[in-house]
Amino acid sequence: MSFKFYNTLNHKKEEFKPLIDGQVSMYSCGPTVYWRVHTGNLRAYSSWDFMIRAFKYTGQKIHRIINFTDVGHMVADEDMGDDKIDKQAKSQNIDPFEIANTYIRSVLVDFKKFNILGPNGEEIDETIDVKSMDKEKWAKLGWARATDHIEEMIEIIKKIEENGYTYSTSQALYFDVSKFPEYTNLSLQPLNDKQVGVREEVGVDPEKKHPADFVLWMKNVGKYKDHLMHWQSPWGVGFPGWHIECSAMGTKYLGEYFDIHTGGTDHIPVHHANEIAQNYGAFKHHVVNFWIHNEMLVSADGEKASKSKKNVYLLEEIEEMGYDPMDMRYYFLTVNYHVPIRFSIEGLEGSRKSRISLVKKIFEIAKNSGADTSVEFSVQLKISTVIEEYRSEFISNLEDNLNTSGALAVVSKLFKSTEKPFDVIATILDFDNVFGLRIEENVLKLYETEGTAIGDIPVEVADIVRDRDTARQNKDWAKSDELRDQLIKMGWNVKDTQQGTQISKI
Ligand SMILES: [Zn+2]
Repeated sequence: MSFKFYNTLNHKKEEFKPLIDGQVSMYSCGPTVYWRVHTGNLRAYSSWDFMIRAFKYTGQKIHRIINFTDVGHMVADEDMGDDKIDKQAKSQNIDPFEIANTYIRSVLVDFKKFNILGPNGEEIDETIDVKSMDKEKWAKLGWARATDHIEEMIEIIKKIEENGYTYSTSQALYFDVSKFPEYTNLSLQPLNDKQVGVREEVGVDPEKKHPADFVLWMKNVGKYKDHLMHWQSPWGVGFPGWHIECSAMGTKYLGEYFDIHTGGTDHIPVHHANEIAQNYGAFKHHVVNFWIHNEMLVSADGEKASKSKKNVYLLEEIEEMGYDPMDMRYYFLTVNYHVPIRFSIEGLEGSRKSRISLVKKIFEIAKNSGADTSVEFSVQLKISTVIEEYRSEFISNLEDNLNTSGALAVVSKLFKSTEKPFDVIATILDFDNVFGLRIEENVLKLYETEGTAIGDIPVEVADIVRDRDTARQNKDWAKSDELRDQLIKMGWNVKDTQQGTQISKI
């Protein structure tokens, strides 16, 4: 393995060597669970999904934590704004833990739909009962929920305090950035620029010494006297600031030194600068070797796409427009993670076409080489080999700062090659362990529907076909007939075959 990544900490591309040979330790800043993940969030999480898939593909073990932020994350990332979850809980008159549970569930469902693997590279089980999960159970899967780690946060804040990096006001305990001269190294933004942002801050604490100082512990006083989630602490009843959770949970699970910390470029000037300061304050040394950041999804005019600007989509909105989540995933693969994506529906449409043509091409190649049924396809695949020359070119692209568009280009090269047809297919399907485009599943769907499964037939028709197959397997003939009639009404001829329901346009 010889990966190189752009390390924001040193502002250059650097060779990546894990602390433990063959194992990568990694922390990814996770979602704030007060709303559904949207296309902007999915861009971030799919980038890191490509990364851990690439590690897995090249034989690395992964030890990774993704957190769920369920307390202390203020609107607009400011110190004195409204807590996103507290605000939502009050406006809906629902317990804040219930709000968090609902959206943790939705994160798992949406990630699974987008074929994002769990933190350690395993399939996500989106059906787990979120309510029954405790911190140990979550940790086994690589997830960590902020409110499960209040004690750890208090402990790490105590260390920072003992080392002399804090001061207290009547409202909060702050990290004093003037005590950490390296504070601006990550963002390269002069400290005085922070004065600009602060004007938008809601209700500034008059006792705060410098605008860049940030909250470690917020007291339940003043604006926050009715904050729903609160705990006892040496600094009074209150709740943790947003940034401390990542320092506390990262070092709890991954140790005082670990390899990679990921997040969006929007985290560089505040959230990650603060995490680095906290880590140093607690341990007197740096904790993370590589800080890696994905660029944003931006609108056509170059503005960051976000929920507040209403220029992002939920996954189901993308589906309602007739797109498969894999169309979006393909879109993300075509633009490398460190380049902004100017999102447009035309761009998504282009990706949809490319993805469908990729699947169809494989189907055609397979048919032309005599695999008439899905069973024959699977048999042929088993006796084929991944072509080493292309595999190593594919890996070189991934190793080069996760060049996913370059990796996709190897697929086009393969199609033009004179290699054995099924070796070409086997190689592309092997690559799909990293792409995660569910290519094989889609090719098999084409067999089910005589080549009309994707692109030509609507998703709801494909769903009925699948339901009918299940009904037939269960010998539920009444249900199967009912679904056949439904398909005919929708304009599709139905033929029963050994491989299942086959349909064609009437
Ligand atoms: Zn974080």
